[in-house]
Parts: sequence; C-alpha cells; structure tokens
Amino acid sequence: MKTILITGGAGFIGSAVIRHLIKESDYSIINVDKLTYAGNLDSLQGIETNPQYHFEQIDICDAEGLGSVFERYQPDVVMHLAAESHVDRSIDGPATFIQTNIIGTYTLLEAARAYWEQLSPEKKNQFRFHHISTDEVYGDLGETDALFTEETPYAPSSPYSASKASSDHLVRSWFRTYGLPTMVTNCSNNYGPYQFPEKLIPLMILNALEGKPLPIYGKGDQVRDWLYVEDHARALCLVAVQGVPGKTYNIGGNNEKKNIEVVHSICDLLEENAPDKPSGVSHYVDLIRFVQDRPGHDIRYAIDASRIRDELGWVPEETFETGLRKTVEWYLNNLSWCQRVQDGSYQRERLGVNK
Ligand code: NAD
Repeated sequence: MKTILITGGAGFIGSAVIRHLIKESDYSIINVDKLTYAGNLDSLQGIETNPQYHFEQIDICDAEGLGSVFERYQPDVVMHLAAESHVDRSIDGPATFIQTNIIGTYTLLEAARAYWEQLSPEKKNQFRFHHISTDEVYGDLGETDALFTEETPYAPSSPYSASKASSDHLVRSWFRTYGLPTMVTNCSNNYGPYQFPEKLIPLMILNALEGKPLPIYGKGDQVRDWLYVEDHARALCLVAVQGVPGKTYNIGGNNEKKNIEVVHSICDLLEENAPDKPSGVSHYVDLIRFVQDRPGHDIRYAIDASRIRDELGWVPEETFETGLRKTVEWYLNNLSWCQRVQDGSYQRERLGVNK
C-alpha cells in the first residue's frame, strides 16, 4: 500500500484526484493545503472521516511544517498541485504567485529531497515527486501552428504562467542536479464539478442562472483545449505511479474550442436543463457581453498528448459535449455548494479546522 502526499488537495483538481484515489485505490492520502480562498473542504465531503485520508493545514512555504509531515507520514509519492492558479488574479497581484508557485515549490522540493536522501536505496528508487503544471508555460500558438509537444520551448505570457514555468524548471533541475525522481505534467484547461466560480465555465453557468451579464474577453475568439477534470485526475494518478522519472507528459483533451463557442454551448444546455429563467431574461445568450480583453491574453493553446497515450495508455473518456453536459448538470444539482462559495460560508467555517 502506498502513501501519497498531495498538495492543494482542497482545490478543484486536487480534490478530484483525492476522490479518484479514494474510489479506486487503498492508498493512504495526506492532503497538505493552506486553505486559501481556493481551498474548499466542502469538495471533500464524506471523505474527511475516511481512515485512508489525513488533512494537514500547512503552507507549502513552511519548511518546518513540511519536514514534519514527511517525517510523520513517510510518503512514497508526492503529487504537487498547490498553487495560485487564476490568471486575472496574477495580473492584479503577482506577489502571492511568486511566493507560492516558485518559493513554495522550492521549499517542497527541498523538504522532499531531505527526506528522500535518508531513505533506503530501494525506497529511494521507488520514490516519486510529480509536479502538476499547465500548458500556459508554452505561451501562445498561432491559429495554424502545430500543437504543443513536450519539446516546445517555454514562452509564458502572464505572471501566473511565468511562475508555473519557473517551478517546472526548478523541478527538472532537482532531477538533473540531485537525482530526485521527478516528473512534470503540463495540462490544458480543465472544467468539471467543484470548480471555483471565478473560472470561465462555472462563472458563466452561475451568472446565467442569476440573470447576470456573461462577460467575454475581446471577441471571445481565444481557443483553449478543454479537458474534463476527472480525465485529468486519472492521467495524473497514472503518471504518479507509472511515469518515468525525468520525463514530462503533456495532457490534453483534443477539444479545441473558442471561448464564445463554449459560452454558447453552456447557454444551450441551460435552455434545456433550466428553462425557468430569471425574470426579464428570454434567452440565456442575450446575457453575453463583450468586455475589454485581458492584457497579454494568449490567443490559442492546444496540446499534443500522444506521449501519455502511447507510453502510458491514457485517453480521455469524455468528449467536450458529454463533459460539459455533466458539468452543467452538476452545478444545477449542487447549488448549495455554489451558494456556500458565493456567500463565503465555506471559508468562515473552516478557520477552526485542524488548528
Ligand atoms: P485551485 O486554485 O482550485 O486550487 C489550488 C489549491 O492550492 C487550493 O486548495 C489552495 O488552498 C491550495 N494552495 C494555494 N496556495 C497554497 C500554499 N501556499 N500552500 C498550500 N496550499 C496552497 O487550482 P486547480 O485549478 O485545482 O489547479 C491545481 C494545479 O493544477 C495548479 O498547480 C495549476 O497550476 C495546475 N493546472 C490547472 C489547470 C486548470 O485548468 N485549472 C490546468 C492545468 C494545470
């Protein structure tokens, strides 16, 4: 039985990884999360009392706290998801992105290295450090350019993607310099249940249900390659256990869509599933408003995921159509989760947790 230390397990993707591992494995899971505004223990309801699961409210910049977690739990694998993850917030205030994404990753690498160096040769060989990153590190693709491969040079555009790029470089150098068995994955835009409603898809669903404007940057012609979060979680667990140290794996859904197409699809699904509209709204699409574009906005991201498919046998199970339908239905059926995020009660109640 393995022990997996997951950072950022109260976030959108981290909680999907934990739900997946609890369902599919007997692994012991240690969730290390600072619980920033993006950390929501409501997303792990029902799991918190599972004996496989342990929670530690720790900042990944806290070297001492991390050292104690490694010593107490003796993990076989680290899956590092904790990050500041929202591009707009990185433009408004880059400091926390530098702190958590760069200094935090460095601090975690050093805690992992100190622990790893004193393991027996056999355990040292088996240990894995898996760093979870984004395709935004590759920068902008022209409309006709080939897809991002693992060899595409880095050219990040935002403080968020630059901080993630820095962390990727640190992780690779800890492999090359110290031999720490690390892997990096770079994934395209995720969507699905439990995503914080500042991101495009949940924001549009919830605004539409309240009859609020649906703000779209520029003309909405930015292209993103969308992946359903549970497909990402499966890919991550595969890489964490079967990935080859020193390697990078790109993960993507082969679902290139313009933002405006995504919002139109959401409106269509809401017409079908939530026909009782707020007063004054005849059609959800009428709520679309084009707003001034984000500075430095990349026009297109698209991933070539053939390495993880060919070498580890991973393929996504959801198409964009099936995944988006599931997502819209999930939000409609879980409005109380959304309500607690929107009114802040998910944050107020957690302040006493474990500390
Ligand atoms: P998220 O913002 O939903 O969750 C981040 C989690 O990290 C939260 O639980 C938060 O409390 C925790 N955290 C933040 N700072 C911390 C700190 N200093 N110490 C400990 N915990 C801290 O993010 P997400 O969307 O789940 O993304 C997870 C990872 O996947 C990130 O590294 C992100 O860069 C990467 N990624 C995200 C996407 C996407 O579309 N969301 C795509 C590709 C890669």
